[in-house]
Amino acid sequence: MRNMKPYDQKEPFEVYKDAVERKTNGAEKRELQSIVRQMVDCYSNYDRHFLQNDLEYMPHARVGADHKDALLGLYGSKLKLVKDFRKRYFEINPQTYNNLCPYCVINSSNTTEHILPKDSYPEFAVDVKNLIPGCSECNSAKGEDVLDEHGKKLVINYYTDLLPDEQFLEVAITLNGASLNFKYYLDNPGNRIAPDLYALIERHFEKLHLLTRYKDKAIQEFAEIRNTYLAEQFADEASYDAFAAKQICKCNLDAVEYGRNHWKVVLIKSCAESYVFKQYILT
Ligand SMILES: [Zn+2]
Repeated sequence: MRNMKPYDQKEPFEVYKDAVERKTNGAEKRELQSIVRQMVDCYSNYDRHFLQNDLEYMPHARVGADHKDALLGLYGSKLKLVKDFRKRYFEINPQTYNNLCPYCVINSSNTTEHILPKDSYPEFAVDVKNLIPGCSECNSAKGEDVLDEHGKKLVINYYTDLLPDEQFLEVAITLNGASLNFKYYLDNPGNRIAPDLYALIERHFEKLHLLTRYKDKAIQEFAEIRNTYLAEQFADEASYDAFAAKQICKCNLDAVEYGRNHWKVVLIKSCAESYVFKQYILT
């Protein structure tokens, strides 16, 4: 899980104007040309709230509701604007995330996600700072709501919420009869992560069901890690410790690419550090 850089090749409003110019439907084009002044205000509002990192609290613009169909008509996954956006996004963001959904870091980003949903905020249907490639599973789990019942933001904005360089995703390894079991959980020991940010991370994980999705994804991986250790046939504890230390070293290198809280990095590291895991392999 890492922060992402927003599209940077043109100002969002320039991209919007190009999209209006490319419209072939004469009536919709004239309708959009007639609201240019209100749209300038919308886009500058968006930029201001983007900088303040409080987009979710921005009031809905009247122009969005009044011209919803024409504004939504600017968006389409096959349109040049979306293709150009995705191409540039993958150029400027970590190569390891190429085609990966930043919300879950499990699935490939087969859709282009609207940070403020386009149905409730049609005025930002093609604002490039409101777009981020994601997967359809996160897209449907995210839904239309941006705030919970207490008025708190539900999911992380990967452009504006500065993610901590601290580990908050953990794996507990237990022995269940004769077989090993594992479980993902979140933790913030000693409040190393600011409580507000950590609470947002918790809401994000809950909204997108990430702990269960990671568990499902990692079952196969976990068996492979266990077998990698078993195949070493350690002669003694010292050789086990040396091997486990190498795994941790690799995790620290991987963490630079994927982030400290990538489900796989955390899983491999937790195995290497677990006393239960070690006892299981050595006996
Ligand atoms: Zn996803």
